Amino acid sequence: MRWKEQLLKLTPYQPGKSINEVKRQYGLSDIVKLASNENPFGCSEKVQSEIANFTGKLSIYPDGYATDLRLKLAENLGVKPEQLILGNGSDEIIQMISRGLLSPETNTVMAAPTFPQYKHNGIIEGCEIREIPLTDGAHDLEAMFAAIDKKTAVVWLCSPNNPTGIYIKEADLQAFLSQVPEDVLVVLDEAYFEYVSADDFHDSLKLLEDYKNVIVLRTFSKIYGLASLRVGYGIANEETIAALEPAREPFNVNTLAQAAAIAAIEDQDFVEKCKQENMAGLEQFYQFCDETGLRYYPSQGNFILIDFATDGQEVFQFLLERGFIVRSGKALGFPTSVRITVGSREQNAGVIEKIKEYLRVNTVISK
Ligand SMILES: *Cc1c(COP(=O)(O)O)cnc(C)c1O
Repeated sequence: MRWKEQLLKLTPYQPGKSINEVKRQYGLSDIVKLASNENPFGCSEKVQSEIANFTGKLSIYPDGYATDLRLKLAENLGVKPEQLILGNGSDEIIQMISRGLLSPETNTVMAAPTFPQYKHNGIIEGCEIREIPLTDGAHDLEAMFAAIDKKTAVVWLCSPNNPTGIYIKEADLQAFLSQVPEDVLVVLDEAYFEYVSADDFHDSLKLLEDYKNVIVLRTFSKIYGLASLRVGYGIANEETIAALEPAREPFNVNTLAQAAAIAAIEDQDFVEKCKQENMAGLEQFYQFCDETGLRYYPSQGNFILIDFATDGQEVFQFLLERGFIVRSGKALGFPTSVRITVGSREQNAGVIEKIKEYLRVNTVISK
């Protein structure tokens, strides 16, 4: 069959190991998964009861326009309903953007390392991928701007960046956007937006007023704790959304997910609690790393990338065998690091204990 040539070179997404897999493999009964930036506190009780009491008909197709969720989001954000596009996770919106704009005649610019789906989708569409190395974990916006030419269709910015947790400074972002040609779509992926505590984080909605070529992506998978239901959304200028809509599957967000997302928005106390817990959790890691001399990036997300100055895969394996699933930096472009999702305080203390054990039994030369 005539598969796109580039498809044959790609491998499917490798998810982190599942809890059951690890239990079976190492004969463990308690596993803590801190690998995929999921919310350690689950989701709001309001969502739980919404789902438990769900009376909608599963035999009927979902509302393809996600009207109730759309109106709820629009009200909550203070934007027009026509400025929103809903996705089966924000992953699907990345796919729609790629389908809609990328082709072998175009190129796309992104940081490296960053969220892998930008590159993956770009490759499938056959466009040229221009990766600009991070500097100190941050986007190098000057070099990214320099990489833009007449064939550039999409620029991907991830703030805070996965896997480093570093955010783009507002002044830098403004300077960048004011230079980017108007026919280049700038995607601002804010999957961790609700976790951000930096005071100089940009006002995304204000940016959308000033720049018609920006789309902001957010998700219910991270702080809202609904990763399994798959809901994400894009916010942009009405014309951008209208252009993208035909690339969306008609019934892409399922009925249960729509109901759950509405209930999730209504419980902002839960969101605030998770944000506070996350900040305290990050402090636990910072303190430990500072005491131990391990290098890390200060994070605005719910994860931390710690450099062990040794094979990160080895640290990953050590923790795995002791019941903590983290993410090896190898697959993330940081071979000497591991990325750890911030858990509950107890979970953080648990993984820190195991890391101490690792450091005791291994001679690690910390810089
Ligand atoms: C987790 C994540 C996503 C994907 O979120 P979904 O809504 O679950 O598809 C997108 N971008 C970044 C940077 C992420 O970390």
